[in-house]
Amino acid sequence: EGRVVFDDVRFHYDPDRPILKGVSFEAEPGQTIAIVGPSGAGKSTISRLMFRFYEPQGGRITIDGQNILDVTQASLRAAIGMVPQDTVLFNDTIGYNIRYGRWDASDAEVREAAGLAQIDDFIRSVPGGYEAQVGERGLKLSGGEKQRVAIARTILKGPPILILDEATSALDSFTEHEIQEALRRVAKGRTTLVIAHRLSTVVEADEILFLDHGRIVERGRHAELLERG
Ligand code: ADP
Ligand code: ADP
Repeated sequence: EGRVVFDDVRFHYDPDRPILKGVSFEAEPGQTIAIVGPSGAGKSTISRLMFRFYEPQGGRITIDGQNILDVTQASLRAAIGMVPQDTVLFNDTIGYNIRYGRWDASDAEVREAAGLAQIDDFIRSVPGGYEAQVGERGLKLSGGEKQRVAIARTILKGPPILILDEATSALDSFTEHEIQEALRRVAKGRTTLVIAHRLSTVVEADEILFLDHGRIVERGRHAELLERG
């Protein structure tokens, strides 16, 4: 469950300026597909289309064979988890931020998600632990810590499809490495689309799509793309 197909998807915000000029790819459950390309290539547009923030003018996007235009936005949000580039947390407790969207989760499930996101030790080390307030008047979290809270939230929510929007770009390389590891655990068994600016961050993807000027100009595994230059 969670098979994503883009079939000749065409999209523009402005008719004079096509953004996607016929983009096709398939992502199977368990696979990680990376979309790489320069800034402005249309990568984030692909994730906006998946959430139906916009509709394509041509082609179609299906999830498990169903055109997403026939699916409610609410069920798309349930099916797709997103770890965005800049995570904004609620001014509430760490626990609230992890539980958000899964209010029925047990404490054990919350702790397990935090452990998989590699933030459990940190949370236990702060006064108040899961009850510690975050935000302006409370605990100030680093970019990496915020992102791990967001990853824990996504793990807890457990959607079949994940979109990681260059999730580690703003972090130092140690944190980046740790987060990539946490993300790999989240991605297991799910359909994962990674939106990246650099080839070096998506070495392990099953397929890399290189998007340029609205078209997929190269596709293959990391080593194959390097060989071709
Ligand atoms: P990427 O994620 O690859 O950097 P985007 O998908 O964000 O690229 O954007 C692709 C192009 O579409 C860019 O040139 C951007 O300026 C343009 N664009 C993005 N959002 C809008 C919008 N709401 N209206 C008009 N143009 C937009
Ligand atoms: P939920 O109801 O599933 O807990 P939200 O309603 O807060 O989640 O958000 C729905 C989804 O849309 C989230 O996964 C969020 O990250 C994603 N989202 C928000 N803004 C954007 C955007 N500009 N582009 C792509 N996805 C976005």
